[in-house]
Amino acid sequence: MVAVPAPAKVLVSGTNGYVAVWVAQKYLEAGYSVRGTVRSATKSAFLKDTFAKYGDRFELVVVEDITKDGAFDEAVKGVDAIAHTASPFHFNVTEPEAELITPAVKGTTGILNSALRHGSTVKRIVITSSVVAVWTVITDSKPHTFSENDWNDDAVERVKAHGKDAGAFHIYGASKTLAERAAWDFVAAHKSEISWDLVTINPPYIFGPSLTPAPGVDDINTSQRLVYDTLTGARKDSGLKDQASWAHVKVVAEAHVRAINTPAAGDERFIVNSGAFFYQDILDAAAQLGVQNVPRGEPDSTKGIPILYNYKTTKAADILGLKPEIPLKDMVDESIKDFKARGYPGFEA
Ligand code: NAP
Repeated sequence: MVAVPAPAKVLVSGTNGYVAVWVAQKYLEAGYSVRGTVRSATKSAFLKDTFAKYGDRFELVVVEDITKDGAFDEAVKGVDAIAHTASPFHFNVTEPEAELITPAVKGTTGILNSALRHGSTVKRIVITSSVVAVWTVITDSKPHTFSENDWNDDAVERVKAHGKDAGAFHIYGASKTLAERAAWDFVAAHKSEISWDLVTINPPYIFGPSLTPAPGVDDINTSQRLVYDTLTGARKDSGLKDQASWAHVKVVAEAHVRAINTPAAGDERFIVNSGAFFYQDILDAAAQLGVQNVPRGEPDSTKGIPILYNYKTTKAADILGLKPEIPLKDMVDESIKDFKARGYPGFEA
């Protein structure tokens, strides 16, 4: 039941990522200092400018290979909390173990091990997990509401049975499930030796504007690319009737702050969900916003289709005080402004 109030120092792994830049920004805004780890100093040089106004409250260190034993040994020294976000998130998988599962699992157990052995000042660790570690494929076509008690062991079984033929989505699901399970197992195994407790944040697709430079469309992260592809017509026809859930990137980042400054958050998983959506809803929102040159899809085509995948969000509301239910339209508006500012194809001035 410890908490880490500001000012305190937080280690944020993978700070150059889409979600992590927002996470670091929210910590800095809340009065924390941030030590960010990145794989490549050159690629992450933009962070020095992004966070210049926070002076020496932001520092950057390079951890080249998060799967190497002891990779985070130096980085954890002197920090009060850790937010572990670094993990591969993409669907171009040819080698499940090497590309997704090993970095997810070893990155997680590695940072926990470093905290155990060298993080004498660490009081809390937050891991960016996902609802892909929670939900499972619905086979009875009936609506389900998943909660923090659920685990996606099904994805792990699928990958065990079918390897890369399990499909990228299940491979990613397996990577997050195995990584989060490994984290909770680590805590259980080392309970008497550790001075910190664990929190996981489990969001669905995270959408909203980016703080990364993402110079080209191919540099947009995997989730925000879904918004871009919908608005530019790459996702169409039956793809517009696909349903999923989303969380606003600023809400997810705020959840990481509350996860360390709320005593009762310790030893808990939190689903952070802004709501369910059909991809058609993104086009409907653009239409309502009066955005030109965006396909309209089939505006009424999803009416009456039940939402099968639902999530309980009361725990994040009750313990973290999070109110993540913000309108999809606001996120679409912000995303379009972001794409326009970057001059991405389809959004040129
Ligand atoms: P992202 O923009 O691709 O950032 C991923 C970060 O992890 C980057 O810093 C990246 O470093 C690092 N990373 C990836 N593979 C790595 C590896 N093999 N070794 C070391 N570092 C590695 O992804 P994101 O969307 O921000 O996702 C961040 C976290 O949120 C991940 O844990 C993801 O599973 C979780 N999450 C994301 C979503 C979403 O919809 N975006 C939803 C739920 C949970 P490089 O830049 O050097 O590759």
